[in-house]
Amino acid sequence: MPENQSAVLPTPRARVQAMKEYHPPLGSRDSLRLDFNENTLACSPRVREVLGSISAGALTRYPEREPVEALVAAHFKLAADQVALTNGVDEAIHVLFEAFLEAGDELLLPVPTYTMYEVYASATDARVVAVQAADDLQFPFEHLVAAITPRTKIIAIANPNSPSGTSATRAHLLEIAHRAPHAVLLVDEAYFHFHGETVVDRVGVIPNLIVARTFSKAYGLAGLRLGLLAGPVELMRWVRRVLSPYSVNSVALACLPPALEDAEYVEWYGGEVLAARAEFEAALDQAKLRRWPSRANFILVDIGPCHAEFVSRMRAAGVLVRDRSSDPGCDGRVRITVGTREQMHKAIAALNEAVAALNLGAEAK
Ligand code: PMP
Repeated sequence: MPENQSAVLPTPRARVQAMKEYHPPLGSRDSLRLDFNENTLACSPRVREVLGSISAGALTRYPEREPVEALVAAHFKLAADQVALTNGVDEAIHVLFEAFLEAGDELLLPVPTYTMYEVYASATDARVVAVQAADDLQFPFEHLVAAITPRTKIIAIANPNSPSGTSATRAHLLEIAHRAPHAVLLVDEAYFHFHGETVVDRVGVIPNLIVARTFSKAYGLAGLRLGLLAGPVELMRWVRRVLSPYSVNSVALACLPPALEDAEYVEWYGGEVLAARAEFEAALDQAKLRRWPSRANFILVDIGPCHAEFVSRMRAAGVLVRDRSSDPGCDGRVRITVGTREQMHKAIAALNEAVAALNLGAEAK
């Protein structure tokens, strides 16, 4: 053994030892990407232009986030200190949980929901309280309210939710904020552009409301990792203590203003997805597959016991979809992202072949 190598390796915190590894299937994705709810096409051409103009010299500098934060805040009609840019919403969740969750606290979640809430919670000493949605996967408002305790510290609600695509009403969200004044209500509006409803206008008015937005979906910038939290200054100051001043890189910061300015592009992409979603829903109904009503750019479909085979058949046909069978209450269910109409025509052809080959429709009933 070399001299500098000790026999006993350092051990991480007990919480970290107990964490599960999380490896989303991001390999070999050179097909139609209907598996991660990304924009399936491209970002705005204005963003491409700015990307092309970034000089080598510019990359030598540390990123300066404040001017871009001010611009984003103005976009949402908020003050600059109410907005924090993050390295994707994932970092936003991580930082928020690090700032607020400690031993004895509870993180309240309606499930099934976005996986990373539990992943980041598992690195803290807080307890996750999961409220299972019924079979219709509608937002479990009554049960969630009943699960609020004096120990509830954060309530995280993706709206629309993933993988279900269902949404919570504004009235329900505001009621939850009101019923748990001692907790942060995080409303994760990652899929806002396909839904159109928001509570961001209540930021700073409701003292415990924080809204998250991402540039990974409609804006088509998942690779740049850009997200944000918007909340009252009294809460954001704690978030900022934990957040690295360098976590949003300068290329992402340079691309954010043209992305925001090109409202026409996101509107076009959102409209295209909604048109494609209606067509795809009709195709699923035609195939007699059960689906959940979606307010987002994806649809959860009940495939039944052949879910894994369905996913591999779709992959063989050049269409990537995501098996959500291991999500709570989602056995046999597969989530399919909605792209453009042209892309979804290819997906429909692959779907119909898989349905015929596996004798689905009848079987899944
Ligand atoms: N929130 C929800 C509800 C999501 O589905 C996702 C992405 N799948 C994210 C946040 C992560 O967004 P980002 O790429 O900004 O980290």
